[in-house]
Amino acid sequence: MNDKKIMKEILFLQNISHVYNQEDQKIKVLNNINLKVFKGEMLALTGPSGTGKSTLLNIAGLLETPTFGFVNLAGKNCRDMNEDHKSYLRGTQIGFIFQSHRLFPEFSAIENVMLPQLIMGISKKEAVSKSKELLTILGLEKRINFRPAKLSGGEAQRVAVARALANSPNLILADEPTGNLDPASALNVFNLLSKLVKALDIGCLIATHNHVLADLMDRRITIDNGSIKN
Ligand code: ADP
Ligand code: MG
Repeated sequence: MNDKKIMKEILFLQNISHVYNQEDQKIKVLNNINLKVFKGEMLALTGPSGTGKSTLLNIAGLLETPTFGFVNLAGKNCRDMNEDHKSYLRGTQIGFIFQSHRLFPEFSAIENVMLPQLIMGISKKEAVSKSKELLTILGLEKRINFRPAKLSGGEAQRVAVARALANSPNLILADEPTGNLDPASALNVFNLLSKLVKALDIGCLIATHNHVLADLMDRRITIDNGSIKN
C-alpha cells in the first residue's frame, strides 16, 4: 500500500467482532473483520445471506456499535463518540443506499433529495440547486417533480443515489442497492453510481449478490460465516 492510498483512507474497520443478544441467546455474527475503504474506490462486499454484510454496513455507518473493535471514519475513531457527534459525522460524511429506495412517497423526487440537506441546515435555495444538479447528472431532469409512485424502479433508485450524495459525503454505504432491479436497470444504476464515485473521489462500499457487478468493482471482499475469506 502506498502513501497516497494511506492519505486517501476514508473508512477503517479494525478488529470488528459483533454479537447480537437475542433474548438469552448470543448470536455471533462478525469475527475480527479488518477492512479499509479508500476514496475513489468501489469495494464489493459479497458472501452468502445471513453472513453479516448488513451488520457490517450498519457498523460502518455508525448505526450499530460493534461488540469489539474500532470504526475509524474520516480519520476519527468513533468508539467513544456520543450519539450527537456520531449523527453529525453520519450526516456529513456518509450517504446510505438501501435495497428498496426508501423515498418518502408523499414527496417529489427533488423534495426527497432536498430533505437531508434541509435537515443539515442548508438553505432551501442551495438545496434546490444541488438537488437539480444531482438529478440531472442521474438523467432525471424530466422527473424532478414526480412522486416515487410515478417512477420506475431504476428511476426511484437513481433518486435514492442522488439523495445519498446530497450532503456531499466522503463515503457511500450501499446494501444490495440493485437487488430489486432488472439486470439492465441494475447495470445502469451501478454505472452512474460508479462514475460519480470516481468523479467526486469518494469511497463506496457495496454489499451485493450480483457477481457481474462485483467483478466490475475495484476490489472485492467476501465474508463467510462472519470472517473475511481470502
Ligand atoms: P447479511 O446481510 O449478510 O444477509 P445480516 O447482517 O443481515 O446478514 O445478518 C447476519 C446474522 O445476524 C443473521 O443470522 C441474522 O439473523 C442476525 N441478525 C441480524 N440483525 C439482528 C438483530 N438486530 N438481532 C439479532 N440477530 C440479528
Ligand atoms: Mg443483508
